[in-house]
Amino acid sequence: TSTPNLTFNDGNSIPQLGYGVWQVADDVAEKVVRQAFEAGYRHIDTAKIYGNEAGVGRAIAASGLKPEDLFITTKLWNADQGYESTLEAFESSLDRLGLATLDLYLIHWMQPKRDKYVDTWKALIELQKSGRVKSIGVSNFSKEGLQRLIDETGVVPAIHQIELHPFFNQAELREFNAANGILTQAWSPLGQGGELLADETIAGIAAKHGATPAQVVIAWHLAIGNVVIPKSVTESRIVENFAALGVTLDAADIEAINGLDRGAEGRIGPDPAVSD
Ligand code: NAD
Repeated sequence: TSTPNLTFNDGNSIPQLGYGVWQVADDVAEKVVRQAFEAGYRHIDTAKIYGNEAGVGRAIAASGLKPEDLFITTKLWNADQGYESTLEAFESSLDRLGLATLDLYLIHWMQPKRDKYVDTWKALIELQKSGRVKSIGVSNFSKEGLQRLIDETGVVPAIHQIELHPFFNQAELREFNAANGILTQAWSPLGQGGELLADETIAGIAAKHGATPAQVVIAWHLAIGNVVIPKSVTESRIVENFAALGVTLDAADIEAINGLDRGAEGRIGPDPAVSD
């Protein structure tokens, strides 16, 4: 199975299914990213704060895969926000990854009280102009924060990475992203495992398709147009999650999963609009 690509507003494209490495130690990241490449993933999501860019870089180097066949994302950490500090942090991330250019650089959190995100965004625009990074986007922004970036710079983020899973499906923010030509990327797409993967509705749909609950949730993300980056450090699950590309849900399945939304009650992580 090959991964479908979605096209950004800047003309570049991103594999719709990727592999995330939050809370994975550097040496483990090297091992599991190699397993992910073997399973067929070509898109890896890391961040400076994960402390495993070097491990991801070693897996890339060992893979023998060409940079043009890979899609690597990393993120600017909060403490590095600001114009000059962003340019420096970017170079350090690229060095740790061992890459000449990056596919996607994201501002990790909006940090409204810090209020440096517009200057930070201007640095990302400069990095893209200079060719150091192909595409630029953000993570964990509010609608108001996104609107401000657009109004003050005229450059629309390619993608917005947000907490998004069936218990917190972010219909409103997805609609705002789409209306502005911004792709939506789902973090904690499996709701971090646990209750969501034990849900009866999900189990029923999984049984109907001869699929697993994790595959059904990933197939839902793909069906509603999200870029999705599930994490596992267990090789059989890394393979299982990739095989979700072969699971096609029908309209009734998608409606049923849409119905699991709990609104703000379903949120696991901090609210970006107030988190600093
Ligand atoms: P996730 O929703 O991907 O859940 C991962 C957990 O689900 C695993 O640790 C495991 O317990 C379980 N799991 C995975 N596959 C399974 C399977 N096939 N069967 C049963 N259980 C399974 O959680 P996540 O790691 O929080 O999110 C995924 C990625 O999103 C991260 O690795 C990271 O790259 C990104 N992320 C970004 C942000 C951000 O602020 N931008 C925040 C959190 C996560």
